[in-house]
Amino acid sequence: MSVQQIKDAIATQKMKCPSCSKPVQQYDNFIEMTAFVSDGAGDSDSGLETAGSKVTLICGNCDWKERTEYWANYIDE
Ligand SMILES: [Zn+2]
Repeated sequence: MSVQQIKDAIATQKMKCPSCSKPVQQYDNFIEMTAFVSDGAGDSDSGLETAGSKVTLICGNCDWKERTEYWANYIDE
């Protein structure tokens, strides 16, 4: 999951607005979320895990706009 997927989905018009079903035209404020997991014992795992990403999707055709971490759900494969 990366910002490139969002860019591609928008460029190829696969990111669909759930409100008007037209292609989403913009995104904003993409952030990668990481979760630091530590067991306190300094075990083998690095402890740094990607916990998804969050983005604001802006339809551009209607008033729909949403800040979500489940943006992949809007991509129409
Ligand atoms: Zn829309």
